[in-house]
Amino acid sequence: MKKILNYIDGVYTEPVSGQWLDNYNPSNGEVYCQIANSNSEDVANAYHAATKAFPAWSHTTIDERSRILLKIADLIEAKLDNLAAAESKDNGKPLLLAKAVDIPRASANFRFFGNAITQFASEAHESIGLNTMNYTLRQPIGVVGCISPWNLPLYLFTWKVAPAIAAGNCVVAKPSEVTPMTAYLLGEILTEAGLPPGVLNIVHGTGPSAGQAIVEHPEIKAISFTGGTATGASIARTAAPMFKKLSLELGGKNPNLIFADCDYEKMLAVTVKSSFANQGQICLCGSRIFVEEAIFPKFKNDFIKKVSQLKIGLPSESSTNIGALVSKSHLEKVESYIKIAEEEGGKILFGGKRINIPNAENGYYLQPTIIEVDDDQCRINQEEVFGPVVTIMPFKTEKEVLAMANGIKYGLSATLWTTNINRTMRLSKELEAGIVWVNTWLNRDLRTPFGGVKESGIGREGGFEVLKFFTEAKNVCIHYEE
Ligand code: NAD
Repeated sequence: MKKILNYIDGVYTEPVSGQWLDNYNPSNGEVYCQIANSNSEDVANAYHAATKAFPAWSHTTIDERSRILLKIADLIEAKLDNLAAAESKDNGKPLLLAKAVDIPRASANFRFFGNAITQFASEAHESIGLNTMNYTLRQPIGVVGCISPWNLPLYLFTWKVAPAIAAGNCVVAKPSEVTPMTAYLLGEILTEAGLPPGVLNIVHGTGPSAGQAIVEHPEIKAISFTGGTATGASIARTAAPMFKKLSLELGGKNPNLIFADCDYEKMLAVTVKSSFANQGQICLCGSRIFVEEAIFPKFKNDFIKKVSQLKIGLPSESSTNIGALVSKSHLEKVESYIKIAEEEGGKILFGGKRINIPNAENGYYLQPTIIEVDDDQCRINQEEVFGPVVTIMPFKTEKEVLAMANGIKYGLSATLWTTNINRTMRLSKELEAGIVWVNTWLNRDLRTPFGGVKESGIGREGGFEVLKFFTEAKNVCIHYEE
């Protein structure tokens, strides 16, 4: 059976423990490969490779670093079909989605940071009257850790490692144990692109073993993490006594605020996507839909009709809109929330049931699910489900919907549908979220800051924000005589 090996010091390596974990194909529930079950010894080996590579890499010219990142981007692009097929098989997402979004974005991450690093320069300041000149050095931190989740595997893995190495750091990275395949395949690409051994080391395994070992390693000086809020809190507790720099991109339960004055047809089409793209497993999906009373009955009918037309099927088929959920345990978690919603008095307007796909009866397929609720504080409206489940609820006033949108511990993104510019300006300021989309969703310009407020995280990725995270700022103050 195919083995997913670690990539340490530029070489594919077996785990020190000699132990392997089964990896499942969500489309049919079968084990199709095994992944290295790494522990602190593998992380120590990865750290040694990284620290050995750091002096040369951090002194490599920015042009040369940029050239290698752009080469990696080209190679990902050239291998689009293979990588997309691997991502779809590993994660259960529709192949067309992996081809159109996940893999192109992984390539774009390397291309963007390969270019951005050449523009990342600080200004000098002459201190008037003090005869001093100040400038800021932005120096790489050293060896940093990057830990990513399963929903957008290569997309989010590269969103971290590309800026980390662009800024001159060396990395010990761990993709999710649920979706290790494309990060594994990236190893070959790094070698082919000429990335020096040890600059980017990829360790596979579980969170409590390999992930925890990265966070606990005393010499890994910064952790960039994307995943669940509870995991983020645990990482913060481990890292705090060592004063590690932390970037935490965590859970979300994002509101859609739909006003009667919106461009209705556009809103409807985009809301179907923002609800169920990637089986609802995007941290930015809008899973709480608030609709102004005047259009609520119409929206309810039209939304159900559109959602009922989505085709659930094998991820490999081009007609599939909704593929398989990522794992059996995740499917069960999502189902348990549908049950909780019903017990709380939520009305299932559509979906809620598993689907049997011919010849893939053990796959993890679930209907897209719409639940009408009448209390925004109920559990299905407050807790992250991270699957194809949305709630809908009417509102009367702007004040009321703002209170409901903000009345939650999360604050990742919010989507606003209105053509009223005054309302747009008011609500964009008042919504407690790291991103507010107005009359659009998931539009991402990589230069913009990305991250959440409240329990959706701390720190910002994207653009120069993440290059600042992956560097230490040093003030140099030079005195001179007149
Ligand atoms: P998770 O927290 O279970 O795991 C994320 C990663 O952390 C995995 O690689 C895992 O192995 C590792 N990990 C687990 N425990 C660890 C520990 N104690 N120490 C170190 N590493 C550990 O999350 P998941 O189930 O993989 O992903 C789903 C979650 O990710 C959802 O909550 C979703 O909202 C969130 N997410 C957030 C964003 C964002 O940008 N804010 C993006 C995507 C996903």
